[in-house]
Amino acid sequence: MLGGGIIGCLTAREVARRRPDASVLLIDRDLVGGGASLRSAGLHTPRGATPAVREMARFSQRYYTELVRRRPDLPIRPVAMRVVGTTDDEPRLRSDYLPEAGLTAAEDLPDGVRPPAGSVAWSVQGAQYADVAAVTRAVVADLRTEIEVREAVRVEAVSEDADGVGLRLGTGEELTAGRVVLAPGPWLGAPAWRSLVDPLAARVKRIVALHVGGRPGPADAAVIFEREDAFLLPLPGRGHWLFSYTCAEWDVDPDTPSPGLTGRHLDDAREILRRHAPGMAVDRLSGRVFCDAYSGTGEPLVRALGNGRIVFAGAANGSGYRLAPAIAARAADLLESGGS
Ligand SMILES: Cc1cc2nc3c(=O)[nH]c(=O)nc-3n(C[C@H](O)[C@H](O)[C@H](O)COP(=O)(O)OP(=O)(O)OC[C@H]3O[C@@H](n4cnc5c(N)ncnc54)[C@H](O)[C@@H]3O)c2cc1C
Repeated sequence: MLGGGIIGCLTAREVARRRPDASVLLIDRDLVGGGASLRSAGLHTPRGATPAVREMARFSQRYYTELVRRRPDLPIRPVAMRVVGTTDDEPRLRSDYLPEAGLTAAEDLPDGVRPPAGSVAWSVQGAQYADVAAVTRAVVADLRTEIEVREAVRVEAVSEDADGVGLRLGTGEELTAGRVVLAPGPWLGAPAWRSLVDPLAARVKRIVALHVGGRPGPADAAVIFEREDAFLLPLPGRGHWLFSYTCAEWDVDPDTPSPGLTGRHLDDAREILRRHAPGMAVDRLSGRVFCDAYSGTGEPLVRALGNGRIVFAGAANGSGYRLAPAIAARAADLLESGGS
């Protein structure tokens, strides 16, 4: 397993569950749960713009519910959710949201959220949010007796031959694996796998979220601003709200030092907040800036590469937390079937 983000770790968990006899190695050049998973807002919305994504969302929702049932200490918390749009959006919302989300008209928006005249709000059930890095680390902690975990070990080269997949590590070691899952998050362009991944035509986009005040209460709802592809998420445990909006900066290199929040980010975010949440404090903003891999189809990429021994899993379009269980299951299917 190359990459110890939420997708690589849940894939390792799935493979270990299905094949307790298999020898599984999880390698990350950093600590597990770093990368995009460390910066994630971790919001699960019970929806999908295509039938495949809806099915993945449904699968993943059940998986996380079961995970929390087994490990109630995990930082995965249900959150009330409101969706703000216009009446024109309703048919699409009814198709995108899972039937069990029970899209229903609602009036009770959190304090400070006052959408413009003509807006309509709905409530949906089944949303949750997580500290994705903490969940990832907890999953790996449980796995350490079953699989081998190597952190701070960079994969420098991947090659296929008739015997398996050769890996050259930054430590100088050379390994051969029968099968490899490549879950590199936004590190699509790493020299070790760039030529393998290039044909997938995935790209890396910056993701920006602001931390805005004041302090949310434990019962506050997350609010999706449908038209703007933005959301407000209460994070009472951190003492602030998170405002995520769509930043259209493409072909970002995750290894280039982040510019942090720029004046442009703040202007774009404030413009939406002024219209929809004029009561939210927007001075002295802080936030999180990183990036994620996007497939270009709106659906995650889980594909066999080369001769079928290597499976790529990722490019989940900013939804890698909420869809990770379904991505992991599909990756494990492909490993078992030899790529078909
Ligand atoms: C600000 C922000 C907010 C987000 N909000 C949400 C949200 O609300 N809901 C949601 O579902 N998703 C959200 N996402 C997206 C989600 O976090 C990602 O899709 C998900 O974390 C990707 O997981 P991953 O395992 O594919 O990648 P990562 O977590 O990036 O893991 C990839 C791993 O590969 C390792 N790696 C890279 N190169 C090498 C190498 N050469 N050798 C060894 N290891 C290597 C890295 O160190 C890293 O640990 C958000 C993302 C960001 C940045």
